[in-house]
Amino acid sequence: MSVDEHTPVLRSCIKLPLKKDELIEVIAKAKDYAIMHGAAMRSKTSFSPDSLNFAPFVLVPSSFPRKEFEKAIALQPIINRLMHNVAHDEEFITTTLAETIKVDEFTANLFNIYRKVLALGFTQRISLGMLRSDLMLESRCPELSPLLETSAGAGNDAKEGQKQKERMADAKASTKAGKANPTAQPGIQRSASSSYCCWKQVEINTIASGFGHLGPASKTIQSFVLRELGHAEKLKQMPKNEALAGLCDGMVKAWNIYAKPKSVILFIIEDISYNICDQRFHEFYIRETYPHIKVLRRTLTEVHKEGKLGQNKELLLGNTEVAVIYFRAGYEPGHYPTQGEWDARYLMETSLAIKCPSIQYHLAGTKKVQQALAQPAVLERFINDPEEMKAVGKIFTGLYSMDDNEVGNANYEMAMRTPEKFVLKPQREGGGNNVYGLDIPDALKRMSRVERSAWILMDLIHPPLSQGYMIRPGSDVPPQIVDMVSELGIFGVIIGDADHIIHNYQAGHMLRTKLSTANEGGVAAGLGALDSPYLI
Ligand code: ADP
Ligand code: MG
Ligand code: MG
Repeated sequence: MSVDEHTPVLRSCIKLPLKKDELIEVIAKAKDYAIMHGAAMRSKTSFSPDSLNFAPFVLVPSSFPRKEFEKAIALQPIINRLMHNVAHDEEFITTTLAETIKVDEFTANLFNIYRKVLALGFTQRISLGMLRSDLMLESRCPELSPLLETSAGAGNDAKEGQKQKERMADAKASTKAGKANPTAQPGIQRSASSSYCCWKQVEINTIASGFGHLGPASKTIQSFVLRELGHAEKLKQMPKNEALAGLCDGMVKAWNIYAKPKSVILFIIEDISYNICDQRFHEFYIRETYPHIKVLRRTLTEVHKEGKLGQNKELLLGNTEVAVIYFRAGYEPGHYPTQGEWDARYLMETSLAIKCPSIQYHLAGTKKVQQALAQPAVLERFINDPEEMKAVGKIFTGLYSMDDNEVGNANYEMAMRTPEKFVLKPQREGGGNNVYGLDIPDALKRMSRVERSAWILMDLIHPPLSQGYMIRPGSDVPPQIVDMVSELGIFGVIIGDADHIIHNYQAGHMLRTKLSTANEGGVAAGLGALDSPYLI
């Protein structure tokens, strides 16, 4: 990411730098606190199934504008419904992915399962969606300026006070015309009708949306640190986060709908689960809160060996019937080393178990579908309420097709001319797959025209910086203050079939923060750090 002295900064919730002795002491405590509260992962560099490292974390919570946070929370049930409607629109999914599946083998394999299931008819019409809509603040949004300072001016209080006043006056003037209706009702409607949105959706995840545990755990560590540093009063600016309960309750609601007392919830896992805390805490929560519901963990390979369908197409592992399947694997080609794993996925899709996600939800979460949804005329197909449509329309930044046709070729030319404005994304999940800015032309030149249809182009978002301490296993103590940027994820749970939505709710959040110099910030991938919002 390109950062200079003009890049705006969100002020830290506490005065920095901390005194060296105080910093060293609090970091030592916070690391132990993190491990002892399950904010931990298995090490990729020195792996042992018997030990954990703390997950990288930001020492104190990062500032986040309260209004924008509340808007994102209020919008989530609308986004849930949008995705539910998309997942059930066979024609839309088929035409949107038509070019992509000609060249992207992985998406084509998923689509083939979808096609076969469609031909057979869905054994289980109900889906469990556990979504995570990821977003970044857009610092160029004028409404944010009262909360921002420049990195050159950060910490210079006297000068900053004056600058801030000027910015507030500017921001007021620039938003006067588009002010929200003062008589609007509170709640979703009001936020839906407000005149701006200072964040943009990075993507929506419909499979293996992680951090249901690590999101709330980040708040716990940072609350501890703030208390230790004598800032207990600041805790009230950290919003409650019940992501773990919200997501697990979603699985339990699906289990109740399946309504067979002896049936179990099955987690589909990778061969090695590095991000183990973020799965086991789900399992432990279910076992402790609903002791009559058993949880099993199996890889796709194991399901291939053990799984079969019963007389009514129920999924059986040995004699155990599976009510709900929660995929924490299956979203990347490496999870399907042989045809056996694909066969297992197909077996599960044709079974009576309620899937999270079902194949149509998985496809609805592809980047290509997100790109198609961002076209204004397309949203009308899925959202009836004009206010809701307007609100959702604003969260999309420019998303462009790379299909081999007139529009796609014009977009290709645009990317070659001004690559610094864009990120190029394939149909992949889990981080580390995108091409950024000036690397785009070379990447595009290596592709044939048809190969480009496996990708989409997206406007880069310019999040403001925050400044603070990032604590990682094995890193120097005391650490330097670094420039960071954050990505907020809002969880949503939705359960229903093509005709009815039975449950639809927002289910907490997570904040991930990375060095401003890094393109991507996956925590499991080793680039990001756990964080939580401090609302200002
Ligand atoms: P994945 O499904 O692999 O997580 P994402 O679309 O979330 O793919 O991209 C990975 C990361 O790349 C994001 O977490 C974010 O840090 C960065 N990123 C993606 N899109 C943008 C964008 N439009 N502007 C800035 N950064 C982006
Ligand atoms: Mg993703
Ligand atoms: Mg992502």
